[in-house]
Amino acid sequence: MKAFIITIGDEILLGQILDTNSRFMSAALAGIGVETVKMVSVSDKKDEIKKALEEGFASSDLILVSGGLGPTKDDITKGVLAEFFNSPLVFNEEVYGWVKEYFRGKISAMNEYNKSQAYLPSACIPIKNEKGTASAMWFERGGKVLVSMPGVPFELENLISSAILPRIKNTFKCSELAYKMLGVYDKPEAELAMFLSSFEESLPKGLSLAYLPSPGYIRLRLTAKGEGLALLDEYFEKLKQSLGGLKYSVIKSGDNAELLEKLSQIGTLSAAESCTGGNISAMITARAGASAYYLGGITAYSNEVKINVLCVKRGDLEKHGAVSKEVALQMAEGVRRLTGADWGLATTGIAGPAGGSAEKPVGTVWIAVSGRAGSKAEKFCFSSVRERNIGKASVTALQMLVDFSEENRP
Ligand code: ATP
Ligand code: MG
Repeated sequence: MKAFIITIGDEILLGQILDTNSRFMSAALAGIGVETVKMVSVSDKKDEIKKALEEGFASSDLILVSGGLGPTKDDITKGVLAEFFNSPLVFNEEVYGWVKEYFRGKISAMNEYNKSQAYLPSACIPIKNEKGTASAMWFERGGKVLVSMPGVPFELENLISSAILPRIKNTFKCSELAYKMLGVYDKPEAELAMFLSSFEESLPKGLSLAYLPSPGYIRLRLTAKGEGLALLDEYFEKLKQSLGGLKYSVIKSGDNAELLEKLSQIGTLSAAESCTGGNISAMITARAGASAYYLGGITAYSNEVKINVLCVKRGDLEKHGAVSKEVALQMAEGVRRLTGADWGLATTGIAGPAGGSAEKPVGTVWIAVSGRAGSKAEKFCFSSVRERNIGKASVTALQMLVDFSEENRP
């Protein structure tokens, strides 16, 4: 079973937006064992869209299309599909009901453009879009399926997860796929691969291991298909054992959800950020409910703020430099005292690209954590790329605080 993905929109080809829909669709398909053979992005031009539809039908069993379903003149996908399937646009009473329902209780009123959303090619099965007015359309031809969805990512993602995937699973026989994931901290990928080489050799058919580097850690994903499905749990335990004393966490995704969840349970905390510039605060507060434990943060970029707000000793700063163990510790202790939190954490480092020296190259970061029972600082050497350094330092700091809190439970 093969899938073909088409994203439509000049915006994508002009580089004005990043095509996240293709990624979401292919990942969702991979999750139910459907292989995507090709992804194409085309402009809002009839001929280009038609060519892509023809290629999709010639090469695949399932064609997923995103974009161009809005009610405005630049959105032509629906008209092109009507032509392609030789199926005129007809008014659909049920879909009109969905559109009206969508506007109920909303500030903006419905107009003629919105009403036009109820005209769909007669050959399609409409699928309700809970998050917008453009319904998805399901077409079948010669045992193949084409699904057209709106381009707005949260509408498309909701449609795929709640309606389209279950329908695909019902229509086609999909070989199921399952996976489990671990996040391993503090080890470069190549070193980890050495560590795990005999585990990988021992993997039976139907199980595979993937290394997915993320800022601050490496995700290890054990994927099972077919006969591997029954062995997934057993080999996931073996994988953990193979890691020996390395630090790891069981995770479900790459978004640090588990780490942030753990952090929410250790008590109140605050952050003093130099090189991460508020990224740690942003990560913590992106999780709903953060106000229950996150008291606040200080972005202490300059020496004066480190000294005047966080009470870092001027003498230590001058003697050891801002990127030093002494300053990191005093920042973490300072912010904890200032906010009255149970835990404080601090980052100070050289994010780059400039500012490095032979002694302290770009990527050098000191991270400190502080609790009522004491404090601790560690030095890291991340990379030469600014964004990566900020990302890695942030995740590493959060992980360090979680570990530290476990070692020093009050
Ligand atoms: P609308 O009703 O908003 O016009 P639509 O179905 O016509 O929806 P488009 O006009 O193609 O969809 O895109 C709407 C918006 O959704 C775009 O401006 C863009 O921000 C986003 N978008 C579209 N396609 C993609 C894509 N492939 N990846 C990520 N975002 C996208
Ligand atoms: Mg549009």
